[in-house]
Amino acid sequence: MAMTPMMEQYCQIKEKYPEAILFFRLGDFYEMFFEDAKIASRELELVLTGKDCGLQERAPMCGVPFHSADSYIARLVQRGYKVAVCEQIEDPATAKTIVKRDVVRIVSPATVIETSMLDEAKNNYLAAVYCSSAAYGLCFADISTSKVYCCELSGKNSSDKLKNELASFMPSELIVADETVEAAGLESFLEIYSEISRVKPLDLYDTDRAIALVEAHFGRPHTQVLGQDRPLAVCALALALDYLVQMHKNDLKNITEVELYNDTKYMGLDAAARRNLELTETMRRRETRGSLLWVLDMTNTPMGKRMLRSWVEQPLLGVSDILLRQNAVAELTEDIQLLDEISEGLKSINDFERIMTRVIYGSANAKEIKSLARTFSALPEIKSRLEGRHSKLLNTIYSRLDTMQDAVELIDAAIVEDPPFSVREGGMINKGYNSELDELLEIVCGGKDFLASLELAEQERTGIKKLKIGYNRVFGYYIEVTNSFKSMVPEAYIRKQTLANCERYITSELKELESKVLGAQERIVRLEYELLCAVRQRLSDMQYRIKNTANSIAVLDCICSLAQAAVKNGYERPEITADDEIVINDGRHPVVEKFLKDTPFVPNSTRLDCKEDRVAIITGPNMAGKSTYMRQVALIVIMAQIGSFVPARSARIGIVDSVFTRIGASDDLTAGQSTFMTEMTEVADILRNATARSLILLDEIGRGTSTYDGMSIARAVMEYSADRRRLGAKTLFATHYHELTELEGKLDGAKNFNIAVKKRGDDIIFLRKIVRGTADGSYGIEVAKLAGIPQSVVSRARAVLKELESAQPLQKPVMTKAPDSIDEQISFATGINADIANELRSVDANTLSPIEALNLVYKLKAKLD
Ligand code: ATP
Repeated sequence: MAMTPMMEQYCQIKEKYPEAILFFRLGDFYEMFFEDAKIASRELELVLTGKDCGLQERAPMCGVPFHSADSYIARLVQRGYKVAVCEQIEDPATAKTIVKRDVVRIVSPATVIETSMLDEAKNNYLAAVYCSSAAYGLCFADISTSKVYCCELSGKNSSDKLKNELASFMPSELIVADETVEAAGLESFLEIYSEISRVKPLDLYDTDRAIALVEAHFGRPHTQVLGQDRPLAVCALALALDYLVQMHKNDLKNITEVELYNDTKYMGLDAAARRNLELTETMRRRETRGSLLWVLDMTNTPMGKRMLRSWVEQPLLGVSDILLRQNAVAELTEDIQLLDEISEGLKSINDFERIMTRVIYGSANAKEIKSLARTFSALPEIKSRLEGRHSKLLNTIYSRLDTMQDAVELIDAAIVEDPPFSVREGGMINKGYNSELDELLEIVCGGKDFLASLELAEQERTGIKKLKIGYNRVFGYYIEVTNSFKSMVPEAYIRKQTLANCERYITSELKELESKVLGAQERIVRLEYELLCAVRQRLSDMQYRIKNTANSIAVLDCICSLAQAAVKNGYERPEITADDEIVINDGRHPVVEKFLKDTPFVPNSTRLDCKEDRVAIITGPNMAGKSTYMRQVALIVIMAQIGSFVPARSARIGIVDSVFTRIGASDDLTAGQSTFMTEMTEVADILRNATARSLILLDEIGRGTSTYDGMSIARAVMEYSADRRRLGAKTLFATHYHELTELEGKLDGAKNFNIAVKKRGDDIIFLRKIVRGTADGSYGIEVAKLAGIPQSVVSRARAVLKELESAQPLQKPVMTKAPDSIDEQISFATGINADIANELRSVDANTLSPIEALNLVYKLKAKLD
């Protein structure tokens, strides 16, 4: 048995796209067959039917109407499938045999351009990684907004940097070769962030071929595209362009610029720090509400929203870059009326950055184009408010903001007030815009009047009062006469259709009119589409101006948002310096203070530098506020480096090159690693990547193992971090190991702090105030009581604690002074006198009484001396 010609055509096309679900256009439907149909019916809850395909068994089939295909495609793409959209590429009316069909586009997570499939608050990046001898070229391309960024990463820890960049851009799709995944150790990263869909490179480019592809696309030398000769970045860019061209099957006319950035432009924030500090989403629920972005986001446009997210993801390192933003924020906070007026104006701006991509790709409909005119109409007023401002950034926005009034005129002249969604049914173009169209409309309009008068004339001529002229798609215009008047029908009427209670006829006069009207109607639909395409083309030609305006609006929106957040939340302007001091007076946690209802947030001050105040050892009961305090310091620094004001009475922030955190258990996020292993991996990352200009937050290191192991690790890490010959980084170290507080005076730059509590009877009151010195206890049992542990368990715990403390106190380790030099440290670790070591080995620590232990220590010490 042979397959039907249509099925043969289907199979030939499907063969070329084995990895995608093929949406095969058949009339008003997209149909899916065989395995694709089974998957789609399962994922989209569609009824699975069958189609006779010429073979013995019917082909499994399901379908969706073409006009609602977007939502079905979106659901499949969200679940990680790719969809190949196969259209009829010739007019079925003129096709001699079977209609030609071909795939016009493949939709995957990062190649979507439909607004309905995109989150307006986020860029949607495709990432491409190119690797050559432990150095990387990286490209992030958001086709929906035409933004493309490239960078190169090399030198020490380049794989860690690669992960940081991926965590910062969080692409929805990643082009990376298996060998690169292995070389960069990306397996666990990709396992944790399983929402990143992975694809293999379509082709492996060497530099020459990559340069050729890049230069052919941009029409200029690659050194101009990137501003420099960057072979690895060019290779990554080529990987991304190649993929996008294959997916979109067009020449990506919207991708005209590439920004080459340097990884030293932005603060280093690894995935753990982003997660722990909840910069753009909360740790537990992964929601924006409760994150730093949530507090700062008072933007009014989608472009501003997306840009603010990238500002939060990428705090700056350059003092002048930060001040540029900060000065503009300050100017707006000083004129609240102006701030409110600009914010109000921004509310009428829509996502014209993304609409423009659809305009350029020829897929924007008349409704979307009309919305551009409405948006652009708001620009002159916004611009006028920026005139004569003092800060450099507001002035730059003023001069760059093109009000696009010629585009408004074009669109308003061409397109009706409320155009339809469909671009193939007419009704989009204004009268008076095109003379040919006006003439055709006249014919149709005149024809309709003529029909009305013809109906009347025929009623009178035949005497059939109920004679009606109607229209349907199969027979065109007809005269309808009910059966009771059948005998009165003139001979010239030609019978066309018999219904239950009437007959339908045509006349030569009617047919003549029909061909005139329908011909004109058809021509109108075609002409309107052509006129719309011409408008789209003229708007595409304005893409540079429109992109610049989109960018200016986004920056303005971000500045307004930061100014609004500062005014509404009582933030102050921090002083930004290039030195190493962080001084915060009465700082607050920007998110926690928002959630407190009945109690006020207690502000706390901070002083850190790379000299005497390098390490703060923070103790205090559970629930006292240690984590909140440490996070607030990091968040204030990050906010300051974003260009925002900060929640503090005053602050002076010396630029921090990176923030590292090790906070809490995060084993739910990390597949295949125990909590302790995760903790140690994070600590290892910190010690490998931090510098003296970093800020390190360590919350409870070494808790997942035995007390002595844990304490030893905690101490060694603290020493390493504090040691100026190794890191000497500003470090906040919260711990329940009170023994570690003995390091003050022994470890250079370390000072003790605790979060004060007041004891009242068996209960404690949290004062939330950070003070110098050591906490007088852990108060774990008191907090357990507060948490609602049954009274009997609490009492028993108290009794056990008493027993432990009196009967067999833990052998408290003796905290020695930290070794001064690396050599000394080595001898400290390895050069213990063999005698002493042997003696220690022979002792059974579990059976030693306190007195015996003390005597032993004296004896050993005497030996050492
Ligand atoms: P643990 O050692 O158990 O992790 P912790 O000392 O780190 O506890 P946090 O988690 O920082 O304690 O704080 C507990 C709660 O105390 C916070 O969720 C917050 O509601 C409140 N809190 C913390 N700091 C303050 C503050 N400065 N002012 C008001 N409330 C605060």
